Amino acid sequence: MFNAGKRTTSTPLKHAPAEVQLHSTAPYPHRLNFYDVPPLFDVTLEEFESAALARLRILAEIESSFVRNRSYDELKSVTDAQCKKYLTLNANSASTQDLQGERRRDHVGHFVLRLAFCRSEELRRRFVKAEMMLFRVRWDTDDTREREGFLESRDFDWTPVDDKEKEAYKEELMAVPSNIRTQYSEGQFKKDKYHKVRWTRVPDLVEKRRVFLKGGWAYVHERESSSMVFQEFQINLEKALDMTAKALPRLDEDTRLIPILDNLSQGFLAGVPSEWLSSSSSGAEGSGVKAEEIDDLAKKHFPMCMRNLHESLMRDRHLKHMGRLQYGLFLKVLGVSIDEAIAFWRRSFSNITDDKFNKEYRYNIRHSYGLEGRRANYPAKSCQQILMQDQPGSAESHGCPYRHFSEDNLQSALLASYSAHGFTASDLPEIMHTVRAGHYHVACTRVFEITHARSGVKKGEGVGGGESITHPNQYAARSRELEKARQEKAESDRDAMLVDG
Ligand code: SF4
Repeated sequence: MFNAGKRTTSTPLKHAPAEVQLHSTAPYPHRLNFYDVPPLFDVTLEEFESAALARLRILAEIESSFVRNRSYDELKSVTDAQCKKYLTLNANSASTQDLQGERRRDHVGHFVLRLAFCRSEELRRRFVKAEMMLFRVRWDTDDTREREGFLESRDFDWTPVDDKEKEAYKEELMAVPSNIRTQYSEGQFKKDKYHKVRWTRVPDLVEKRRVFLKGGWAYVHERESSSMVFQEFQINLEKALDMTAKALPRLDEDTRLIPILDNLSQGFLAGVPSEWLSSSSSGAEGSGVKAEEIDDLAKKHFPMCMRNLHESLMRDRHLKHMGRLQYGLFLKVLGVSIDEAIAFWRRSFSNITDDKFNKEYRYNIRHSYGLEGRRANYPAKSCQQILMQDQPGSAESHGCPYRHFSEDNLQSALLASYSAHGFTASDLPEIMHTVRAGHYHVACTRVFEITHARSGVKKGEGVGGGESITHPNQYAARSRELEKARQEKAESDRDAMLVDG
């Protein structure tokens, strides 16, 4: 596996196409960026990868919002919160921040993802749609004066409509439905500015009947200029992706970059950001989980994939290799120590002798804790890996039930696993609709919300701030946190009652 985390020296991308030949110190005067110029400076492999992963998180959450039919306002607030967490981009007025550093990271991340997502029609389409939405959110959350400064810095090639022409089409312009709705007065009309552009550049305005069309031109009110900007952004990006796709074969010889790009595009296809190098997935999230507590934790806090593995293990007293690997690493990150893990697996494999267990299984358990063989600290598998790699055979229990179960089995399993947590048959249509559309982790996130409603989790909130599930350990950790908070609140309420009483 490629480990960018160990490279600390600056690594120029000698074999990269011109798009990623990185050599200049161009400052970033604006928060908004049309990404016309590739980063022309040296980029370390760590920066190359971490900037892309941060951006991928945001884009994947935007895609989740599309799937969840979030309104634009909901999407904007979720995306804005995610950006503040993973990809901060402050306005010029935030003088104390490292503005140039933030913008550089934004710039690098965008261009790395271009390389990863230019490879197929499907990836290009989805990338453009998500990037467009990210740009729009940033546009809408930008400072008005800075946004104007950004507009002035670009030559959009919009033709201003002069007073004579405006007067000639006064009736038509004032009759545009959106103008009528705003009770357009003649006095206001005289003050307002219009631009004309080829109608094909503003299809959304044409569709919503918010422009006057004449001779192939669309007459656009200044209020609608944002639509023209978004359209420009989209056209530019589509062209750039085509060019990048043509240049990409020149990258194939670079064994450092291709695995990273493959992994990024795979994550986007799965609808889940890649987390294969995430430190949170390799270190234990807690400690002190005892072997005898696992059954109880599984019933209360595990996502479907781990519930299924746990139940198969309890039922069959055995799990095949991939199942042991998926579940064992998950338990490690959950906080089960090596001694407790051995005790747990020994007790679970109750149909075999000590001798067989020691010979065939003990070594592998120790190996997954980095105590044998290469002594690597193997991370737990992320949703992306579980969804995309090592598809389970008929007698195997690993994988993601949302993806790998038949519809009937999934519905029965959901009811059997989560009825005690408030999940009912009336929730099934929504979940199955999402599953049929191939958005497995969104279905899992929705199940999390339903089964944690008693802890105050609302629809659309995900594991916090609207974030979707991307890792089974993230599901379990958040579920345990919520229970802890609920218990603490109950205790403090009880104390308050005692004091009052
Ligand atoms: Fe497990 Fe992820 Fe599938 Fe949920 S979406 S069941 S956490 S693999």
